[in-house]
Order: sequence, then structure tokens, then C-alpha cells
Amino acid sequence: MNKEKRTQIFTRLRDANPNPTTELNYSTPFELLVAVILSAQATDVGVNKATDKLYPVANTPEAILALGVDGLKEYIKTIGLFNAKAENVIKTCQLLIEKHNSIVPDNRNDLEALPGVGRKTANVVLNTAFNQPTMAVDTHIFRVSNRTGIAPGKDVLEVEKRLVRLVPKEFLMDAHHWLILHGRYVCKARKPQCGSCIIEDLCEYKQKTS
Ligand code: SF4
Repeated sequence: MNKEKRTQIFTRLRDANPNPTTELNYSTPFELLVAVILSAQATDVGVNKATDKLYPVANTPEAILALGVDGLKEYIKTIGLFNAKAENVIKTCQLLIEKHNSIVPDNRNDLEALPGVGRKTANVVLNTAFNQPTMAVDTHIFRVSNRTGIAPGKDVLEVEKRLVRLVPKEFLMDAHHWLILHGRYVCKARKPQCGSCIIEDLCEYKQKTS
């Protein structure tokens, strides 16, 4: 795909949704960090249901640590993998208190050193909480990038690096959200809705649906 097409695609996605953001509910970087840890292999809707009850009670490292693993599980037990996630969130709270003055770090190395935080989670936090032009490639972004030809790659890291290199600078900050939302609601895994897709004429996918 050439630069002109990429620019047109992101121009259309931006025109349709000028201020995209995550569908996870949060009001502080810490709330976002915990929500993203909880969201691995879970839906944003499911995470929001849990955090809407948790955060009014505990939304700081100290307060969640005070709940303890079992107390935290009571709030997140509807989310998949909640046992491991509870352990990771509690350990992350401990580390934030001990090493970072209870403040979520704004750099990749410190974020990825937190339990339950991998490259994708770090990218989401850096982009959404700290306005850094990172690209958190999830299953939706991976699929859309490959199908359309915007940034094809054999694995998520390759797609991430290509997106950071190829997405025109003016769109880089929000590209991650536009691609996720496009994959979640239009370019769906089993049945892409090509007939009502606003970038259908620009997309290079060979098996478009009618
Ligand atoms: S035209 Fe189809 S395959 Fe291409 S981005 Fe749109 S929905 Fe996805």
C-alpha cells in the first residue's frame, strides 16, 4: 500500500471519529493500568462492569493493596483469568508503592517490569494515559493491518513496528484507537462488513464480502 492511500484511510477514519479513545472506563493513569491488566482476553464491557464497582471503593495502589488478593477477587471474579490477574494487580500495587511513589511510570522499561504488564499493555498506557505515539497491536489491529495492507506483518511485533514507521505522523497518536474500533465493529474477524466500510475502495483485501 502506498503512502497516499494510507493517508486517505486515516483521513476518513478521523473524519468519522475525530476524538477516538479507549472503551475502558478510567479517570487516572492507575485506573487505566489496572483496567488494561484486567482486559487481557476479556471484553472491555466485562472489565468496566467490574471496575465500576471496584474503583469507587479502591482506586489507588494503597487501597487495592489493602483489599488483598481475596478481597480484590470479589470484585473481578466475573472476568476471565481473575485468579492470576488478582495476584498480578496486587504485586503491581506493591511495586508502585515501593519503587514509584505510587505513581504509574511513563516509560516502557518501568511499565514492563510490573507484573501482568507486557508490551501491549505498556503501549496502551503510554498512548492513552501519557499521549505517546505508541501502537498497541491487539487481535483487531493485527487483522485490520494485514487485511487492508496498511501494515502487513507475520506477528504483532512486526505489525507494530511497521505501523509506527508507516502511519503518517499526524495520525500516529490516535491510529491505535481507530484501528481497534474499525476491527471491532466493521472489519470483524469472521464476517467483515465490507459493504458498509468507509475505506472499502482503499482496502487491498482480496476476499472482500459484498
Ligand atoms: S473493506 Fe472489508 S476487509 Fe477491508 S477494511 Fe473494510 S471491512 Fe475490512
